[in-house]
Amino acid sequence: MRHMLHILLHFLIPAAVASLFYPKRRLEVWLILCATMLVDLDHLLADPIYDPNRCSINFHPLHSYWAIGLYVGLLIPAKTRLIAIGLLIHMLLDWQDCHFKVTFTGIWQGVSDIYTRIFS
Ligand SMILES: [Zn+2]
Repeated sequence: MRHMLHILLHFLIPAAVASLFYPKRRLEVWLILCATMLVDLDHLLADPIYDPNRCSINFHPLHSYWAIGLYVGLLIPAKTRLIAIGLLIHMLLDWQDCHFKVTFTGIWQGVSDIYTRIFS
């Protein structure tokens, strides 16, 4: 469920940004923003390629803090700005996913602790 939401957000947030800030070329902008999802190709270097319990941020090379710093720099030239926006939205969503995962695990741990105390 959480994972489905995460994937959905990777399409919905770019759609919202494209509609809000580039209303006249929203489809084109949305497609460019979605194309930055290719950044996930760096998962192919990892083993396993996909692990739902792993945080992408600062694990995969194109999700490293160095790479994110580069994406911020790409905001400056007008030609690379949209790609930079797409990449930074992606990093923000991946980061949010890690954070949410931690919180969710924490809540689950709390619930099972209470259950153990009551029933053992
Ligand atoms: Zn990613």
